Amino acid sequence: MAEITVRTDGGEYRVHIGRGILERELADDIARLRPQRVVVVSHPSIYDLHGKRLYAALQDGMDDAAKVNEFLFPQGEDSKNLKTLEEGYGMLLACGITREDLVLAFGGGVVGDLAGFLAATYMRGMPYVQVPTTLMAMVDSAIGGKVGVDLPGAKNMVGAFHRPLAVYSDVSFLHTLPERELRSGLAEVAKYGFLYDSDLLATLESWEQGLPGETCDLAEMIAICAGHKARVVEADEHDLRGVRAMLNYGHTFGHALESACGYGRLRHGEAVAVGMIMAARLSELIGLCEEGLYDYHQRVLMPILGGGARDINAGRERIIFDMQADKKKGKGLRFVLLEGPQVPRLVEAVAMRTVEAAVEETLETLRRVDPCL
Ligand code: NAD
Repeated sequence: MAEITVRTDGGEYRVHIGRGILERELADDIARLRPQRVVVVSHPSIYDLHGKRLYAALQDGMDDAAKVNEFLFPQGEDSKNLKTLEEGYGMLLACGITREDLVLAFGGGVVGDLAGFLAATYMRGMPYVQVPTTLMAMVDSAIGGKVGVDLPGAKNMVGAFHRPLAVYSDVSFLHTLPERELRSGLAEVAKYGFLYDSDLLATLESWEQGLPGETCDLAEMIAICAGHKARVVEADEHDLRGVRAMLNYGHTFGHALESACGYGRLRHGEAVAVGMIMAARLSELIGLCEEGLYDYHQRVLMPILGGGARDINAGRERIIFDMQADKKKGKGLRFVLLEGPQVPRLVEAVAMRTVEAAVEETLETLRRVDPCL
């Protein structure tokens, strides 16, 4: 069991990581907070699998008269939108939820981002906690308070910074996580490796077929990643100082890939993994790093991807088109690139034909390695 404290100017909160966190830390905190109502935001599929256990942990800490309400919405990135949000507001209103109550995000990044934004905006802000159930959410999205939803064609375009009261990462939930989702989370682990941590990369490289073996202690790896995320958030909570921006490694390409292929087709981590390979090639092409970085990325990321890149159904032109459209977000095209492993740099002025070459070469490499692509 590990505990990481995220300390920012605006306050601090704890990230609990381990097995049985629900029955211990969550139940204890609920008993201390004594909310009259807890609104669990989740997907029906996750609630079916783990809802009873969550409910029991909550009941342990609540008064007899207190209630648990649920707002359940369909899984998938295409539910992370204003329509679902409006349904959520309607439900909170109908149940008479107030700022004294508590929202509990119970799921992956989609649930966490939407539930957090619901809590950030309902009655101008109410408390919430994160109970992540995917590896992606445990290592990244549940920590840091970036919450929001997508607009058509513009990912995470509406959002807020809203700190959770606490994060409860109970790794026992990962037993039911489909392999593809696990791999998607591992791509984010690799991202921390390329940005900050060569030991993480060595561990990932040592695995058979990109997956942790029986003896691997995933909780320890999650704690290492959560520690990296916490330090970044502490240095730059509101993404203003260029520190948090580094976590977008692979994302300029990755977001374009997600949008070009159609939201929901590629997993977020798959798009980021391919995006990091493209970024590594771009780093080489503009002479920012020595040759070899691209190969290194392939060595680490191709086994993790498994067959995940097979769902890429867009070519270079469409990917570049969607990347240009993303420019509407205001700051022009910016890339996090690497001068070498663990030496990230934000680069703004890159010739478009060089970006195109990085995309094309990566797609060709993926096709060569996996003829099914
Ligand atoms: P997700 O939330 O869509 O979850 C993936 C799938 O796994 C879903 O179908 C879900 O129902 C299922 N699932 C979740 N937990 C399960 C479990 N324990 N057992 C079985 N099935 C389970 O995807 P994700 O990868 O967790 O998150 C991706 C989202 O996170 C994207 O929207 C991305 O933009 C966002 N994100 C946000 C931040 C941030 O800082 N806010 C950071 C990274 C990613």
